Amino acid sequence: MTAGIPAYLDYCASAPIKRGVWEVTSALMRQTGNASSVHGFGRSQRQRVDMAREEFARRFGVKSSQVIFTSGATESNNTILKAFPDYPVIVSSIEHPSILNVAPEAAQIRVNRDGRVDLNHLEHLLQVLPQPALVCLMLVNNETGVIQPVMEAAKLCKNYGALLHCDAVAAVGRMLFNFNELGADSLSLCAHKIGGPQGAGALILRAGLTIRPFIRGGGQEMHRRAGTENVAAIAGFSEALRFVDEDLERGPLWLSWRESFESMIMQAAPEAVIFGQGTARVPTISAIAMPGVSHEMQLMAFDLEGFAVSAGSACSSGKIQPSHVLNAMGTGPLAGETIRVSFGWATRKEELENFASSWISVYRRQRPAKVA
Ligand code: PMP
Repeated sequence: MTAGIPAYLDYCASAPIKRGVWEVTSALMRQTGNASSVHGFGRSQRQRVDMAREEFARRFGVKSSQVIFTSGATESNNTILKAFPDYPVIVSSIEHPSILNVAPEAAQIRVNRDGRVDLNHLEHLLQVLPQPALVCLMLVNNETGVIQPVMEAAKLCKNYGALLHCDAVAAVGRMLFNFNELGADSLSLCAHKIGGPQGAGALILRAGLTIRPFIRGGGQEMHRRAGTENVAAIAGFSEALRFVDEDLERGPLWLSWRESFESMIMQAAPEAVIFGQGTARVPTISAIAMPGVSHEMQLMAFDLEGFAVSAGSACSSGKIQPSHVLNAMGTGPLAGETIRVSFGWATRKEELENFASSWISVYRRQRPAKVA
C-alpha cells in the first residue's frame, strides 16, 4: 500500500479501464443516435459498431459475421447454453457460475488436484451421453489461472460429433491463442477483464454455426441478439483489444513478479499452498491458501492493510462461499482458507512484494506458533 491508496489486486473480478479506452468510450457516450436509425446520427453509430466488429474479426481470424456483441460474458455463456435445447450438456466442474448455474443438470467433467480438466473423463462422458452434446470448457480458470487443454478437448468433441463452447474471459491478454487453432465452436469474451468498460461482451461463432437468439426483439446482430447496441461500450471493448499485445509482451515480467512474491510467502510459511503450481498457469493469477485461517478473516485483514483481493464467490447474502473450483480440486478445508490475487497493467512490483509481507504478518498474527 502506498500513502493510503489501496493496492488493487482483483483484476479477475474487474480490471481498471485503460486510458485510451476511457477516451473512446466517454466521447461516444456523448453521441446521440441509435445504430439502427437510417439518419446521419444513426449511421455514424452504426459505423462505430462495424469498425469494432472488424477489429474483433481481425484479432480472432474470423469474418465479422461470426462476431456477436452482448452485454458481457454471462450473456454470451447463457446464449450458447440456451441455443441447443435438445443437446445433453457436459461442463467442467470449474466453470464460471454463468455456465454452471444455467446447466444444473449437466454432467460434470472432473479436474485433477492441480485444477486441470481430466480428458479421459470427458471422453467417457462423450461415450455414455447421446450425441450431439454441448461441452463447455473454459480456456483459463479465473480462480487459479490454470490453463485448460481446450485444443485436445475440441479434437475429442469433434471425434464424437459434439460442440465445444469455450469461455475465454480469463485468457485474453494473459496467453496467446488463436480461435481457429483452438478448434472451439464458440468463444465467450468480456471487456472489463481487459481494460474495457463493464457491460460489454462478445460471442464468436465458428463459421457456419447458427444459433437461435437468447434475447429476442429487434433484428440487431444479424437477428442473433436483440437490443439497441451499446455503442460506447462496444467501441471501448474493441479499443481495449488493441492493447492486448502490450499485455502479452509484459507476461514474462509479470511471471517473474509473481514467482518472487509467491516464493516470499512459501519461504516464510512452507505449509502455505499455491494452487495449480504443478501445471501451466497464466502469469497474473495466484490462489494462495493460508492453512487454518478462514478466507473471511483474511479478506478483512487484507482490506484493513490496504489490499483488494478476493475469495470464492460472494453470494447475495454477502457471505463468502468456499470456492466450487477448489472443492472440485479436492482441496478439503483449504477451499475456505484461500484468497486470490490477480493483477495487471496498473500493478507495480512493490505492491505485490508489500502484499507478500502483509500476508506473512497476517499469518503470524493468526497462527503465531506457525511462523518464526
Ligand atoms: N466467465 C468468467 C471466467 C469470468 O471470470 C466472468 C467474470 N467474473 C464471467 C464469465 C462473466 O463475465 P461478465 O462479468 O462479463 O458477465
